[in-house]
Amino acid sequence: PVLDHDDYLSRLNDAQRQAVTHGTGVSAGGADSSPLLVIAGAGSGKTNTLAHRVAHLIASGADPRRILLLTFSRRASVEMTRRVERICKTVLGDKAGPLADALAWAGTFHSIGARLLREYAQQIGMDPAFSIHDREDSADLMNLIRHDQGFSKTEKRFPGKGTCLAIYSRVVNSGAPLSDVLLKHYPWCAGWEAQLRQLFAGYVTAKQEQGVLDYDDLLLCWAQMTSDPVLAADIGGKWDHVLVDEYQDTNRLQADILMGMKPDGRGLTVVGDDAQSIYAFRAATVRNILDFPASFDPPARVVTLDRNYRSTKPILDAANAVIGEAAERFTKDLWTERQSDELPRLVTIWDDTAQANYIADRVLEEREAGTPMKQQAVLFRASHHSGTLEVELTRRNIPFVKFGGLKFLDSAHVKDVLALLRFAQNPRDRIAGFRVLQLLPGVGPGSARRVLDTMGESAHPFEALKDVKAPQRSGEAWAGFVNLLTVLGSHQVGWPGEIAAVRYWYEPHLERLHEDASTRLADLVQLEQIAGGYPSREKFLTELTLDPPDATSDQAGVPLLDEDYLILSTIHSAKGQEWKNVFVMNVVDGCIPSDLATGEKDDIEEERRLLYVAMTRAKDSLDIMVPQRFYVHGQHSRGDRHVYASRTRFIDRDMLSLFQSISWPVVKPEEQARQEAVKSVRIDMAARLRGMWS
Ligand code: ATP
Ligand code: MG
Repeated sequence: PVLDHDDYLSRLNDAQRQAVTHGTGVSAGGADSSPLLVIAGAGSGKTNTLAHRVAHLIASGADPRRILLLTFSRRASVEMTRRVERICKTVLGDKAGPLADALAWAGTFHSIGARLLREYAQQIGMDPAFSIHDREDSADLMNLIRHDQGFSKTEKRFPGKGTCLAIYSRVVNSGAPLSDVLLKHYPWCAGWEAQLRQLFAGYVTAKQEQGVLDYDDLLLCWAQMTSDPVLAADIGGKWDHVLVDEYQDTNRLQADILMGMKPDGRGLTVVGDDAQSIYAFRAATVRNILDFPASFDPPARVVTLDRNYRSTKPILDAANAVIGEAAERFTKDLWTERQSDELPRLVTIWDDTAQANYIADRVLEEREAGTPMKQQAVLFRASHHSGTLEVELTRRNIPFVKFGGLKFLDSAHVKDVLALLRFAQNPRDRIAGFRVLQLLPGVGPGSARRVLDTMGESAHPFEALKDVKAPQRSGEAWAGFVNLLTVLGSHQVGWPGEIAAVRYWYEPHLERLHEDASTRLADLVQLEQIAGGYPSREKFLTELTLDPPDATSDQAGVPLLDEDYLILSTIHSAKGQEWKNVFVMNVVDGCIPSDLATGEKDDIEEERRLLYVAMTRAKDSLDIMVPQRFYVHGQHSRGDRHVYASRTRFIDRDMLSLFQSISWPVVKPEEQARQEAVKSVRIDMAARLRGMWS
């Protein structure tokens, strides 16, 4: 079709336009089917370009149902879909329908993986009603096997469940042999290679028997399917275009999946920035993006962007200086036309409390000056770093929303309800069953196990449940429980009514188990609201497990608060986003870089990139906070303590001229004037008092 594309394409710069039109035959070079890589620094418009490309493809006649759009989070996916829809409207006008449904294959690798596995369950010998374990469930199952196999007893100092799971996950995601992973990342566990191998084999068997998958399985099974030529062609054939954002943070499995589905790279587009690769701890590898062009014949078309549209020049100069010292880097320094005389601030401050005060003061000041709090964000390395700040914000009645922290779903009562739904969905899921059974009075681990064993032996677990002798002391609760599961198991209530049925059943237990039952009940009501946004129990459980919303957000990660609120986020969760004002907390050695970074070059380099990611989130104003005393939460049994800290090594002496250095608390000028004025007052009180009588 002939397009009136001038308006939306003319808003892009040349390089962006080339990327958007690549291979669509509209560009000067004519049709070119080679894959496309857009590799460029922060704020250069990569995500924006990707959204335009999707819209342009649709406007040029591509079927949105045959487009796979892979993003890093659900929030990013929802945001991208909205953007594409907006752009399509400007091109097609009223002819453009709503896209949310049509662009059905937009999501994270994990959620798309889950969907495909259900679809191809038959071919891979899997029950399509499989349930998905989050990290905590996975660690619990790992622990169970660890005990069953006796390692926790026979092997002194055998690694804990979290470490075992991390090792397992790294092997799966990196494709590296266990021995290599142990030597490189867990040298203190290297002596247990044989035992770990046995443990992991047991873990895999248990998952299969119970019909559960963990996060890694969603990628692993997808990758395995795409290594079969028939399935690979079928799966890859679903989409004419596959586009991936934030490609620098994908791991080996994810690259294998893409290459398996699109071996010749036709229709494949990936965008990313090697300088922002910050997920190596989850086995992401920057090699994916660097090796991408040469993986195809003919090689991929590479487009680089070098103009930053996000930040002012002083902010960009400082960020460029930090990343400029990096040992290895593909993307080059960015430039911007956004002039400003406001330098980023380097704020040296006494401690955590003073830091919280400074930030709260500045946020309010900026709001007074016209910047809503929603356009201001406070970033920190680890979720627990914001504790003091949260207390201060609460004390001052400043509403905030926190991303990347403890999730809504992590609270015990919400997990209870979800476990019940999961158990109803998949009665073989022992971790869910174990949790749910123990909600009943008088039911401990022993009797829970017995019940699960009986159910497990039957082809109709819920029927079998009816014949189980009620555990002692469970009283009437048992009959109610059996009844509820029978109802849920046979889908008698329907979705989302089920969740209300579960809440109704759970309420008396909630009151027995928790003192603050009424606040917790409010959470469950909110959970019901969230549930209403999903078409089915299965979809609800999958999505929620894979990308849990924050306590204060709706399913798309959009906060439910009406009022203005401040954003709190870990740096990792801030990826891809931007705010007018940004505060980065605890930019001290020991935090960035973390004292857990082993000091190896690769680890330290990743920490530098983390700071770069944080700084490049800012559009107009940036405050880098350097507390002199830094509160360290106990890790490796060292206990909580204050440590004296100094400015991060990534901002060295030569760079100081790029910042405005501030020491705080400083007395503000008007406060100083007031104090001087008070000091200079002289009243001859004695004379006055005498004068009253003269
Ligand atoms: P990151 O590396 O942080 O993910 P990015 O490269 O994906 O950044 P975007 O988020 O797409 O960058 O864009 C950054 C900002 O620049 C956005 O506000 C976007 O609207 C704006 N922008 C991008 N391209 C242009 C353009 N051609 N003209 C004007 N503004 C633009
Ligand atoms: Mg982006």
